[in-house]
Amino acid sequence: MDQAPTHNLPDSSQRTGSGQKQRILSGMRPTGKLHLGNYVGALANWVKLQDKYHCFFFIADWHALTSDYADTSEIKQSCVEVMTDYLAAGLDPQRCTMFIQSHVPQHAELHLLLSMITPLGWLERVPTYKEQQQNIRDKDLNTYGFLGYPLLQSADIMLYQADFVPVGEDQVPHIEITREIARRFNGFYPRDATANEPEPRRAYVFPEPQALLTPSPKLPGTDGRKMSKSYGNSILLSDPEPVVRQKLKTMVTDPARVRRTDPGNPDVCPVGDVHKIFSSDETLEKVYAGCRSAGIGCIECKIWAADSLMRVLNPIQERRDAYEKNPHKVWELLENGAGRARAAAETTMQEVRVAMKMTKDSRVLGHQSSAKVQKVDAL
Ligand code: SF4
Repeated sequence: MDQAPTHNLPDSSQRTGSGQKQRILSGMRPTGKLHLGNYVGALANWVKLQDKYHCFFFIADWHALTSDYADTSEIKQSCVEVMTDYLAAGLDPQRCTMFIQSHVPQHAELHLLLSMITPLGWLERVPTYKEQQQNIRDKDLNTYGFLGYPLLQSADIMLYQADFVPVGEDQVPHIEITREIARRFNGFYPRDATANEPEPRRAYVFPEPQALLTPSPKLPGTDGRKMSKSYGNSILLSDPEPVVRQKLKTMVTDPARVRRTDPGNPDVCPVGDVHKIFSSDETLEKVYAGCRSAGIGCIECKIWAADSLMRVLNPIQERRDAYEKNPHKVWELLENGAGRARAAAETTMQEVRVAMKMTKDSRVLGHQSSAKVQKVDAL
């Protein structure tokens, strides 16, 4: 197999000296209304990142097709729901760029170009590829789109020349493959320093993005398993208070605490995990002391957990109500975001086309034809 030439490639710190904020890219699939697991595992962190970094947060509707291609009827509405939750959680369209992936066609162009240089083996060895093929039986994953989904992710990241991607541990291999692909592209297509490019920043087109490991506290669903919509155990950011309280009421507890008089252990209890994330130190102390001494019952403990949770959810739901009443505004914000994203994406694609010598620049043709003319004259 042909090898990309190797060079001493730049790292992402180069942007630090340029006075520009470093870039972050992250996204979620349009799964409809988001749940507390999405909030704790990603959204809450994104809200903090939006001031420190130049952030692009997208809704990955093309990724939804890689495993669910047959029925696309819900995707658009789901995108609006996800955006509504982004806004409700505190992402601010003035401070970050939010958009739908398919509204920025450059994602597809870069994906195609990268597919030409990506060895199949790199995609086949991504851990989630085999794992999901073996474990997910109710979907057709024998498609080119599914195999290529880590590559589409790489294109998403590289298109914005992202320096960092906030991820959990399990996503680190996806960042690794992106770094390899960026290195391979830069090796094949180093930048032409003399080219007339928009805002040249680096010696090579693509920085190698770094994983920004996200602290992701454990938040189980109501049945104690990982919170997931497909398990039917999730608490939505948009669940009204009575629903939140009812869901917590049915949440499983420390299995060792069978009777009210049995002492329990909040460290092995899913309700204890909710307290650890959402309750004040004072409440947490009462939970530990009361649970371990059987001084409190689980019903009381769950009421406290619901109180703590609602203190976080109330402002989120207030913001959500305002946007929910005005889906056209949400769509307009997505379109504005897509406009900004397209501008950034097009800058990268111009650099890519120049590096690959695939521009529409007619001056190159001019050189060739004048050379030909000279040759013809000589004959
Ligand atoms: S008292 Fe609270 S932490 Fe202890 S087992 Fe019951 S619900 Fe869990």
